[in-house]
Amino acid sequence: MSRQPKAAKRSPRASAGKDRKGAGKAPARKATSWAETSEQRAERARRVMAALEEAYPDARVALAFTNPLEMVVATVLSAQCTDARVNQVTAELFKRYRTARDYAEAPPGELERAIHATGFFNFKSRLLRGLGRTLVDRFGGEVPRTMDELVELPGVARKTANIVLGNAFGVVEGIAVDTHVRRLAQRLGLSKEGDPEDIERDLMALLPRELWFRGTYLLIDHGRGVCNAKRPRCGECPVAAMCPRLGVDGSVG
Ligand code: SF4
Repeated sequence: MSRQPKAAKRSPRASAGKDRKGAGKAPARKATSWAETSEQRAERARRVMAALEEAYPDARVALAFTNPLEMVVATVLSAQCTDARVNQVTAELFKRYRTARDYAEAPPGELERAIHATGFFNFKSRLLRGLGRTLVDRFGGEVPRTMDELVELPGVARKTANIVLGNAFGVVEGIAVDTHVRRLAQRLGLSKEGDPEDIERDLMALLPRELWFRGTYLLIDHGRGVCNAKRPRCGECPVAAMCPRLGVDGSVG
């Protein structure tokens, strides 16, 4: 589900632009951010987050869950699938699969059918069976609440672990770098890395810890709503004045 930014709707830049010659064009590109000092980049990153907070005050995880096990299962299922589709599937799945053992001992074919609509269902079923088995055998059937333990689970790397820790336990150990966070970090000149863990490290260095969890969902909402992968709408972007738009060549107003 894509949320539109509040600031974009009421942005003087966006509304005034419709009445001017050249309306709809993206704002002039700012100088590349790589001339910044690290202190200047960190200051800019904080201002970007403040603007995104104003634009997306309701930013939050879109996956439905009621406990840590549901959170980790939903996150595994969300790979290559929309959150809305995952929520449709888990609305039924979570009625039948309530414990880690339920996943570990899922009858052949049953789990596959239950999650079929999320795509890659054979692969995801193997992950969920392995996840359930590992939780039963090593963690007493409970989802652990540390990064080191979570990344030992099948299908769980740092991104998923950060999502589970932050949403299910209120524990913040890092920043979940999904496809939106990765793209935004690069376009905004906050990281020139490509690997999610390197990008996470750069963002953690730039942002104060209290923004790590919140920043994930602000960037995701902005990535879904305005800074799309193919056609970012720079002309109505609430952080355009702070963005060097690195690697962007198909923006629209
Ligand atoms: S839409 Fe994306 S690339 Fe364009 S100005 Fe906004 S953050 Fe930068």
